[in-house]
Amino acid sequence: MSRTGLERFGVVSPAIVREPTRDSEGIPVCPECCHPVVKSKGSQRVEKPDLVHVALAAAFDELITFGWRCERHPYEIVLPMRVGGEDASAFVDGWTGVQIRFSDEHVRHVATPEREVSERVE
Ligand SMILES: [Zn+2]
Repeated sequence: MSRTGLERFGVVSPAIVREPTRDSEGIPVCPECCHPVVKSKGSQRVEKPDLVHVALAAAFDELITFGWRCERHPYEIVLPMRVGGEDASAFVDGWTGVQIRFSDEHVRHVATPEREVSERVE
């Protein structure tokens, strides 16, 4: 949906951020509908991310993260790949870990491009 649509009226449904689950064969699936999401693997956008760090929360309307998405819902479901901590370089060079509150209220580190953070936060 375009930004001039419902958002103009303040009706914004933030993306649902969930932990990906895997089926018995280890294939990542959507936790809500169990549909395989393998093909969506890549950079994902999270609108209005619930970032724990105050400076980050103020700087990001939208967070780029790495993981999967499920498009079989009227709302957006983003399934970020979990990283161990702030150092996400073991994951991909140039990416860093930020803490985000998932829809289940748990706070987890997800990956985001380091440049995005350094450009926006001193
Ligand atoms: Zn789904």
